[in-house]
Amino acid sequence: MMVKFWGVRGSIPAPLDPIDYKNRILDIIQFSQNKFREEPNLTSEKIYELLPMHLKELIGGNTTCVELREGNEQIIFDMGTGARKLGYDMMARGITGDIHIFLTHTHWDHIQGWPFFIPGYIPTNSIHFYSCFKDCEERFVLQQQFKFFPLEFHQMMSKRIFHYLKQGDTFTLGGFTIKTEPLIHPGNSTAYRVERNNKSFIFATDTEFFGNELKKIIQKKKKFFYKADVVVIDAQYSLKEAEQKIGWGHTSMIVAVECAIAWKVKRLYLTHHEPAHDDYHTYQMYEEALNYLSKIPKAKLEIHLAKEGTTIEI
Ligand SMILES: [Zn+2]
Ligand SMILES: [Zn+2]
Repeated sequence: MMVKFWGVRGSIPAPLDPIDYKNRILDIIQFSQNKFREEPNLTSEKIYELLPMHLKELIGGNTTCVELREGNEQIIFDMGTGARKLGYDMMARGITGDIHIFLTHTHWDHIQGWPFFIPGYIPTNSIHFYSCFKDCEERFVLQQQFKFFPLEFHQMMSKRIFHYLKQGDTFTLGGFTIKTEPLIHPGNSTAYRVERNNKSFIFATDTEFFGNELKKIIQKKKKFFYKADVVVIDAQYSLKEAEQKIGWGHTSMIVAVECAIAWKVKRLYLTHHEPAHDDYHTYQMYEEALNYLSKIPKAKLEIHLAKEGTTIEI
């Protein structure tokens, strides 16, 4: 299976602004000048390689949208603003016909990309929405009322089919076996475990794993997450923010790592990045999480930040 992150930001899009951009350029110039002083023969490419991650990489500002592919079969998770570019890419790749979109829930940051998703306007496309909300279609209609968007949901030219899923369901779609699991989030959210050829992928945002009940939660969710090859999980907050934002529905990066260790997950991708954090801040949290992980004896977990545009193989 192949997974591509089209949107990894939580809550609201957070593009790099002109001040951030200027500061980043200045930091890169400073870093390069220092390196040249130490070693005047360094090539530009070598200096690029030496840059700290928060200068070299861009986490990305689009909200949640993830694509899973195996051969000609595709599953999309959520329609955050990242779905806009996914739509262009699917058009360029000539993907038409039945398109399958699994929704964790319908908060804005998970559905706002839909009216900008070009495959939704192609008459020969059948878009299948899957969710644990019986009124999911109504929610999409509401989002696209004429007061808020120039074209209403039912005026879009594709065919749309809504599939209602129950929490805990297991079913197949093409060669994928998919299981649902409830998460802890205001208004509810659903995690999906997808299996194929003895490999497993879990998409689990938005969720709040925190508090006095954490040990119990970890135990309760163990069966669903157990030994997954790749888990993409909500890791929006620092530990301090998680304490301040109890009930907001998100997990701290360190607790996300703690959970994954207990569930014997192999690779963990931390996502739903806080829009108030710049890349420097997010990488600092990541360093703290790596440090936490390094102190757990015998932990075999690998952790990564989910970044827009990144592709991973499972
Ligand atoms: Zn969200
Ligand atoms: Zn949410």
